[in-house]
Amino acid sequence: MQESKAFLMLKLRRMGISNKEILGCIESLDRSDFVSKSFLDRCLEDIALPIDCGQTISQPSLVALMTQQLEIPQRSKVLEIGTGSGYQTAILGRLASRVYSIERYKILADTAKKRLEKLNISNVTVLLQDGFFGYSPQAPFDRIILTAAVEEIPSLVISQLKVGGIMIVPVGLPNQKQSLLKVVKNEKGLDITELMSVRFVQMKEGLVKA
Ligand code: SAH
Repeated sequence: MQESKAFLMLKLRRMGISNKEILGCIESLDRSDFVSKSFLDRCLEDIALPIDCGQTISQPSLVALMTQQLEIPQRSKVLEIGTGSGYQTAILGRLASRVYSIERYKILADTAKKRLEKLNISNVTVLLQDGFFGYSPQAPFDRIILTAAVEEIPSLVISQLKVGGIMIVPVGLPNQKQSLLKVVKNEKGLDITELMSVRFVQMKEGLVKA
């Protein structure tokens, strides 16, 4: 293992990422497969990096933390909103039985699809859709993760979460720090825990097909 990869893995363990499957995914996946050539030398740093369309690939430690908080059961159907580079999507694909990932930019969705195919991740469907609507044809989901920030939990999306399901979502106003929330749906309603403060790109309405 490269020295910088070993350093990243040590950092993740120190941060409390104890789930061996998640650590294994991050160790085996090459982040350089998910960024443009100009950032290849920075892939092993624990930082967010720019991708096309003014978006970002999240920091590996945040991806690990969000994934761990999702507590993905082996047999589960997961909805991701905000495919972006496809890096988080690939990890979800390795942990869940079925993943639906929604992206509003055609270029990003197409590129992520190709990357996942190349890695033989075949249980993931990338959809060019507006994530505010969730994905009703496959609802309800066992787990839902949003990788773009919303001002409030989108009602259509939360309605597509199973009772007993978990949603991880950054909530906050544009250009401000957001709170990463863990939302557990139970029979009586939602049980919400604030995990940490984060900074994600804002979720926007509508598709960009050009
Ligand atoms: N997990 C991704 C993060 C990408 S940034 C990664 O690590 O690469 C967030 C993504 O959410 C962006 O690609 C952005 O285009 C997408 N997004 C924003 N609003 C959206 C919406 N309404 N529907 C679907 N995707 C959306």
